Amino acid sequence: MAIDATQPYDEDNIFAKILRGEIPNKTVYEDEHALAFHDIDPKAPIHILVIPKGAYVSWDDFSARASEAEIAGFVRAVGHVAREQGLVEPGYRALANVGGHGGQEVPHLHVHLFGGAPLGPMLAR
Ligand code: 5GP
Repeated sequence: MAIDATQPYDEDNIFAKILRGEIPNKTVYEDEHALAFHDIDPKAPIHILVIPKGAYVSWDDFSARASEAEIAGFVRAVGHVAREQGLVEPGYRALANVGGHGGQEVPHLHVHLFGGAPLGPMLAR
């Protein structure tokens, strides 16, 4: 079920548990500001999630409260992962769902990176 993006941060959300090492993940990249790992239920041949290490519910929360260093570090990590995975030349999609209408299910900011095949139209009509 989609979350309310204005809710307070839930320390028990699944990505908080992944960051604490309580739940396994297939990590593809990690640095001071970000962790990137394969989505458990991939919707494209390559489907990677990039999350900030800080406690932010959504893109909205992150863009409002994160420090300049966290924002720069996270954005650079998203770009780095896409390059490292060979997604740039064939092309890819970066997507962040926010709240109810966005269909966000996990209340910790994550950017989806989709690639590995033509992805079709941006949204189903
Ligand atoms: P959202 O709908 O919130 O934008 O996307 C949440 C994503 O997290 C989904 O694509 C879902 O498959 C993925 N996901 C949910 N639980 C887990 C998990 O425990 N591990 C991993 N790797 N991905 C998860």
